[in-house]
Amino acid sequence: MSDDRMTLVPLGTAVRRLAVRAADTARTAGSCPHAGALFVSAADPAAGVWCVSCGHRALGDVLLSPWCVFPECSELARPGVVAARADGRLEVLVRACLPCLTRDADEDQEDGER
Ligand SMILES: [Zn+2]
Ligand SMILES: [Zn+2]
Repeated sequence: MSDDRMTLVPLGTAVRRLAVRAADTARTAGSCPHAGALFVSAADPAAGVWCVSCGHRALGDVLLSPWCVFPECSELARPGVVAARADGRLEVLVRACLPCLTRDADEDQEDGER
């Protein structure tokens, strides 16, 4: 099941939470009608859920953006894309720096957390 092209890192709760939120936003935004693997860009969940054949713009955004996806972080992302969440056919693609990928969310200042 694992995809060797993806780098495996132990993900922290911050990025997992981001991925869950991105998946929810993308599902609300809509999905392409094609069969096969589907993806969500954590950087732009409003683009919806897309497959590789129709999501090239969103996929390009994920691949080309050099920056960590967390808005409060100004670090360069580590090379490659991480599948932060695989939910059935749906994978949430995240590009983030290593500290953000592994940190836990308990020190975040996001609104809506209490
Ligand atoms: Zn499609
Ligand atoms: Zn970061």
